[in-house]
Amino acid sequence: MKWVDEVYKGVLRTGFRVRSRLFKGRSPFQKVEVVETAGHGRLLLIDGMTMVSDRDEFVYHETIAHVPLCVHPKPRRVLVIGGGDGGSVREVLKHRSVSSCTLVEIDAMVVSASRKFLPGTGAALSDKRCRVLIQDGVRFVRQTPERFDVVIVDSTEPFGPARALFGPSFYKDVRRVLTEDGIVVSQAGSPFYEIGTIRNLMSILRPVFRVACPFLLTNMTYPGGLWAFTYASKGLHPVRDLKAGRARALKGLSWYSPEMHQAAFAVPPFLKRSLR
Ligand code: SAM
Repeated sequence: MKWVDEVYKGVLRTGFRVRSRLFKGRSPFQKVEVVETAGHGRLLLIDGMTMVSDRDEFVYHETIAHVPLCVHPKPRRVLVIGGGDGGSVREVLKHRSVSSCTLVEIDAMVVSASRKFLPGTGAALSDKRCRVLIQDGVRFVRQTPERFDVVIVDSTEPFGPARALFGPSFYKDVRRVLTEDGIVVSQAGSPFYEIGTIRNLMSILRPVFRVACPFLLTNMTYPGGLWAFTYASKGLHPVRDLKAGRARALKGLSWYSPEMHQAAFAVPPFLKRSLR
């Protein structure tokens, strides 16, 4: 019997039973693997860490995409940084107001493996409204003259190529590329195991944006189950400015709804205390 284990921060091991290995490669940035599991569908791992599982990826992707897009009054141009599996792009494209979604992913191997082995998410990358750029997201926001209504930072953990995505100068550049009503949301890690990452992101966002706060989801795949994101905007409030009618009109969702949107911003006291 074969298992693939994610060893998280040297203190936790999560095992997925494997039926077969579909892809294994080493890019200039990281080790990329796709396996067929017995209970969670296909699983994408980067450097041994679980990124996407067929079984519950909807939780993460619906939340990271619809939270900002249902607050913005009319999102047209969206930028996704990281997210080479295509799941966030798939959800962004469910908004009819979106005319273009630019994906800036540093690793071509993640994009090609997802296109080939994870069609549930990867297929969105071939949509005609999606533009895929293989580039460092930090460099892209530093140099681009383009402007975006929403930026989604769908990155790996804060080491290797993703380290600078968790730094202050990156968020100053994100602010610059955002339009007047702009919103940025970012993957922020586990509140149980890496509260320091969330605290660090919040301390970077607070001086740069008028509104900054964390939000949460619970899923099956990520270590500890509970997962955090940050929301920051030039003024739009994540709950008061929710366009509930538009959120309710989205079709075929399995996790996100106006009620789940509001619930995501309810933060437990231990996290609130730590972010004070
Ligand atoms: N849902 C995921 C999670 O939290 O487990 C994130 C998945 S997505 C596959 C993360 C992607 O971010 C990876 O494919 C990685 O190559 C990409 N990435 C890391 N650093 C980056 C950078 N500086 N610029 C663009 N993409 C980057």
